[in-house]
Amino acid sequence: MATPQSDARKQTAKIICAILIIGGGILALIGAILFGLSFSMSMQTPSFPTNPSQANSWFNATTESMNQAFSTGVTGIVLLGVGGTLCMIGIRYYFWANIGRISTYIAQETAPAATITSRAFAHGMSEGLNEGGGVPVKVIGEPATSSQKIMIKCRSCGALNDENATFCNHCGEEL
Ligand SMILES: [Zn+2]
Repeated sequence: MATPQSDARKQTAKIICAILIIGGGILALIGAILFGLSFSMSMQTPSFPTNPSQANSWFNATTESMNQAFSTGVTGIVLLGVGGTLCMIGIRYYFWANIGRISTYIAQETAPAATITSRAFAHGMSEGLNEGGGVPVKVIGEPATSSQKIMIKCRSCGALNDENATFCNHCGEEL
């Protein structure tokens, strides 16, 4: 699995993730600063003139500073959105790449447990189908080590005994 090629691909994926997370983070940070700046800019409007003849220039100055604050705010939001998205893509890509590896690992780990569970389930099914007692029960043995085995179910206690057993190995009753 760990061929030089896949190692190189992993390395490339890691670098892409780092660029996306760090680059996106920086963009988002700049965006957040600009957005915050636009608020303080909108607060710093020139005070209303005492002389009414200057009202027009005050209005123009205020409009200009509001426009500046607005464009700064918009730039900030766009940068924040783009940077945040890039950052999220990087984080998701990173987790996706790692979870892919983790899930493969879990699948390998749980495989024997799944085999045991299915074997136990099959065993339970065969027992349930032979509730009458004293009936030969087919028990699924170890698939890799031995073939299927015929067992005798005890009439009084239900314990499984070898095909050739005369008495129950659990309660001693004659089979
Ligand atoms: Zn018995």
